[in-house]
Amino acid sequence: MALYDVIIRNGMLVKEEEVVKADIAIIEGKIAKIAADLSDAAGKEMVDAKGLHIFPGLIDSHVHFNEPGRGDWEGIETGSKALAAGGVTTFFDMPLNSHPPTINKDAFDLKNNIAKEKSLVDYRLWGGVVPGNMDDLEDLMNCGVIGFKAFMSGSGIEDFEAADDHTLFAAMEKIASLGGVLAVHAESDVITAQLGKITSDKNNQSAKAFSESRPIYSEVEAVQRILAYAEATKCSVHIVHISSVKVLEPIINAKKKGINVTVETCPHYLSLTVDDLEVLGPIAKCAPPLREQAEVDHLWDAVISGNIDTIGSDHSPSLTSMKKGSLLEAWGGISGCQTTLNILLEEGYWKRDMPLTVIAKTMGTNPAKRFGLEAQKGSIAEYKDADLVLVDLNEAFTLELEDLYYRNKQSPYVGKTYRGKVKQTFLKGQLVFDDQKVVPS
Ligand SMILES: [Zn+2]
Repeated sequence: MALYDVIIRNGMLVKEEEVVKADIAIIEGKIAKIAADLSDAAGKEMVDAKGLHIFPGLIDSHVHFNEPGRGDWEGIETGSKALAAGGVTTFFDMPLNSHPPTINKDAFDLKNNIAKEKSLVDYRLWGGVVPGNMDDLEDLMNCGVIGFKAFMSGSGIEDFEAADDHTLFAAMEKIASLGGVLAVHAESDVITAQLGKITSDKNNQSAKAFSESRPIYSEVEAVQRILAYAEATKCSVHIVHISSVKVLEPIINAKKKGINVTVETCPHYLSLTVDDLEVLGPIAKCAPPLREQAEVDHLWDAVISGNIDTIGSDHSPSLTSMKKGSLLEAWGGISGCQTTLNILLEEGYWKRDMPLTVIAKTMGTNPAKRFGLEAQKGSIAEYKDADLVLVDLNEAFTLELEDLYYRNKQSPYVGKTYRGKVKQTFLKGQLVFDDQKVVPS
């Protein structure tokens, strides 16, 4: 009889299509067997998951951990600990806000060496597209980037320039030839720059004025443009962090036409509004900005109906001093990578009857398939990595500042109560989070 390393018994497995009670046996970091009853099997370690749900280790395809260069804003060690605590076992780090940005092989190697040493969970790196780095894209692809990222409007950081239309188109031809995916921050540079200047000249610090200076139609315009380029170049495109279903309509139509496009939204667009931004201030500032409650509700409908492919945190932290004072001057990024699952459970499962399978899809199978990791990651299945999250859906907690593992402890969600608590997180069969504390690997 086989001796397994770990056997997890009596849990409810959250799969892509169903939630089913089953036992899981793990050997050498992989799921070796899933069966209704493994009570006869022998394991070096036995875990009783009675009363708990077991999710696949989640994939957060959108974080900014800022290392090297701006490790005082976050850092791979603190960021990855926050993920483990939040049930995320794989992250894709964005090419910007670290310095140097990941726009060539040297910068990739630099970040990859740091991540290899410091990350508590698995990771992949995004490569960047900026004016002037067309000749680096093939090198980056060969380094193993998960995809490429471009900004259609200012990134908010000087060392990562927005891609003008010519750069975008040229990059898309190149990325298509390499078989890669281009992720875009889709807001119109012309519209956001001009409206932003008007708002700042008036020094209008209201949340509504900020939100209206980056209007939904600016996202729609940019998305329509990138879809036209995607059709012409045959480049696969992933539209990140949409804030409204109005942005979704052209994407759904493009999918019907056969354009290879997927779309992401973020927990903050599913749980916070422009009214929250007015109350919370800069800590809830992001771009695209928070919208009205009706947009939040419509986005949920889209998540539940399967029209949103992936959910990423867009964890974009900074020093706490940069999230205070003037709304217009403050850093535009929300710290949120630890709480994505909590928000999906509280706002989706509990308040809107969202099936748990939606979480398994949007943070499991969908990102794994989109970015080529489906052989190892993204679902609870035999032969895949034993990345598993044990959650007590009924346990409620109020998020405290000291619960956060971020380098700079700040979050717009502090003080909120969530139903659904991560009890244990396994990465390749090894515990990385256990009963309210991360486990050093
Ligand atoms: Zn981002």
